[in-house]
Amino acid sequence: MNGLDRRDALKLAATGAAFVVAGGMVGPRRAAAKTGVSAAVKDGAYVLPPLPYDAKALEPAYDARTLTIHHDKHHAGYVRGLNATLTKLAAARRSGNFAAIKSLSRALAFHGSGHVLHTLFWNSMKPGGSEVPAALAGLMKASLGSGEAGLAQVSAATKKVEGSGWGVLAYEPIGKKLLVLQAEKHQNLAVWGAVPLLVCDVWEHAYYLQYQNRRADWVAAFMKLANWEFAAARLAAVGAT
Ligand code: FE
Repeated sequence: MNGLDRRDALKLAATGAAFVVAGGMVGPRRAAAKTGVSAAVKDGAYVLPPLPYDAKALEPAYDARTLTIHHDKHHAGYVRGLNATLTKLAAARRSGNFAAIKSLSRALAFHGSGHVLHTLFWNSMKPGGSEVPAALAGLMKASLGSGEAGLAQVSAATKKVEGSGWGVLAYEPIGKKLLVLQAEKHQNLAVWGAVPLLVCDVWEHAYYLQYQNRRADWVAAFMKLANWEFAAARLAAVGAT
């Protein structure tokens, strides 16, 4: 799968991102191995996955200090919170005392979603960004009108998330469609069962050190780092292509 052919390169004035269709197919076996999500458990506990690149690799679009704090402090906090919540839930099951089940369930959704989305987020970027593989481009055209329109919607929706949250490109397996979602906070994913393919963090901690209140600039930078090969691999991993 190395050496993907470049073709149909279209510059997107609206988003500042390039929509480039890459030739070739992403095989399910290789795609599953590339998602990097299944190995994030050790001895039954969730672990903080290492960054898939050096902390400086995304500079200047995403500086090493912001990235390191985001990963080593914020993401690590979600992993700690998730494991601590699971430990408390296990104790509740052993004792039969579910008095705290409401707050524990809320904590489980908060920390669990934070861990999963950040794990996807690191992989949703790569140095220099990537082309859009042909299989993903085809589903974008079928679901969102065209690749250009799809990327424009990803960018627009992410910039306009109300408060803290995420922009999410997801695959909805019942309708077999791509959907562009705004996830407010992150435990409130809007469509159950949808598989996130590519996510962008717009909580302030993700960008404030470098971009302050200029979320649009951060999203524009993210769009240039976007790893569409990862999105296509996720799509293949769920059997959609
Ligand atoms: Fe974050």
